[in-house]
Order: sequence, then C-alpha cells, then structure tokens
Amino acid sequence: MAPPKSKNSPSVKKQPAPNAAGGPKARTRALKGGPRSLYSPAEVHEIFRRFSVQRPEPNGELDYINAFTLLIAVVLSAQATDAGVNKATKALFPVADTPQKMLALGEAKVGDYIRTIGLWRNKAKNVIALSKALIDEHGGKVPENRDELVKLPGVGRKTANVVLNVAFGQHTMAVDTHIFRIGNRIGLAPGKTPEQVEQGILRVIPADYMRHAHHWLILHGRYVCKARKPDCPACVIADICKSKEKTTDVPAPLVPIAPLTEAIPVGA
Ligand code: SF4
Repeated sequence: MAPPKSKNSPSVKKQPAPNAAGGPKARTRALKGGPRSLYSPAEVHEIFRRFSVQRPEPNGELDYINAFTLLIAVVLSAQATDAGVNKATKALFPVADTPQKMLALGEAKVGDYIRTIGLWRNKAKNVIALSKALIDEHGGKVPENRDELVKLPGVGRKTANVVLNVAFGQHTMAVDTHIFRIGNRIGLAPGKTPEQVEQGILRVIPADYMRHAHHWLILHGRYVCKARKPDCPACVIADICKSKEKTTDVPAPLVPIAPLTEAIPVGA
C-alpha cells in the first residue's frame, strides 16, 4: 500500500529523505544533542509502513467540527479522557463552533457545558479568553503557526502541535504520554523530556509518514504497546522492536483494522 500523502510545512524543519529505506546496511542515527535512535532508517520505514497498512487513514478520537472546535477540544482534553471531552462538546459545539459564538455564550454557560471535565472552571476561563484572543488578534481564525498558537490562553506546545498536524496537515509531532513512552521504551527516539522525544521523532520518521505518524503512535501506545504491560503478541512490529520489555519476536498478522472509534464531527 502506498504511504499516505504528505504536505510540506514551512514551519517545520524539512525531514531528511528516507535514504536508507529499501535496504542499505543498518545503522543508527545520532540525534543532535540527544540519545541515538536504536533503529536504522530502513527499520523505521518498515515500522511505519506496517502502521500505514494497519490504519491507512487513522483518526484521532476527539470529535470536532473545524479548526476552532479542534483547538477547544484539545485544550479541554488536558488531564481528561477523549471520551469525556466528546461527551461535553457534543452539546457545546453545535451552539458555539466559532470564537464569536463561544464568546457570546460567556464563561458561566461554557462552564455549564463542560463541568463534567476535570479543571472545568479554569478551562471555561481559558476557552473564553482564547476565543477573545482569536477575534482580537487573528480575525477569528486559528493561526497556522506554533509561535502564535502557544501565545493563546491555555495552549501549550503539545496542543499547538496537535492542531497544526490534524487541522492543517503540518509535519508536527505532539508528544503525549503514549508517544513519550514508546519513544523511550522501544528506543525509537529516546529522550528525557517530551521535546527531546519530539525532536528525535521528527528526525527519524520518513517525511511520507509524518502526516499520520502522530495518530499511529498514539493508537499503538493506547491499544498495543500499553503503559502497564505491552501486548506484544498483538504487535505488528514485534520482530523489529528492540525493547527489553517485549515478550515475543513474532509479529502479529499485518491486516487493516477497523477504527475502534470513528471521529465523527459533532453535529454531522
Ligand atoms: S513488541 Fe511489545 S514492546 Fe515492542 S512495540 Fe510491540 S508491544 Fe511494544
């Protein structure tokens, strides 16, 4: 299966070409200022080729309608589950899918919609401040670059990377708990901080796979390479994996799998 199409992103450093994909001798890549990946370019290419066969069009599990509602959903998802956020936004987004409508709704009413989510008071404040900043400083549009995004209330680097990747197709890597664990556990992109892992992953993953790499890694971490105990017999890269924690060298059959949760836009 052909790899997913990619778009170039002016705000993200150009990825090195997967020059060793296809079989030159294995070697490791030095990560500038960080530990080395344990995998050769050919091995990394094969890992993501298999992920792309399993999930040709991976979806995130947060529901959203447009770039603005995606941004709000990601802000609300801090220290909360995607399912919990979706439950709250199912009623919120149909009535407030633009910064203008969200601002008009006001903090108290936004709070009423999201009070099942942890830290809801603070998040309601941020949602209103964020909507106001988008209107005042960006003409009501979500900016397409990280420097501007992280200046918005409640928006950190991880949130900005998710929005840039999912809404605008940029080659960013939002390192969450799953990606941080996989980067270190299997030695794909070791790092002591999320930013080190982010830089390591951006350096090793072939550009053709960057568009979906974020979702593939999250879904792999959530359902297979789990935190407490990795499910190695269900893993399609078990023969390539170099983790000391793995329990088998036999990869699971490589077949497309149905999404566990369809990310259907709210109101659709
Ligand atoms: S073989 Fe096990 S440890 Fe390695 S990636 Fe797969 S699930 Fe994770």
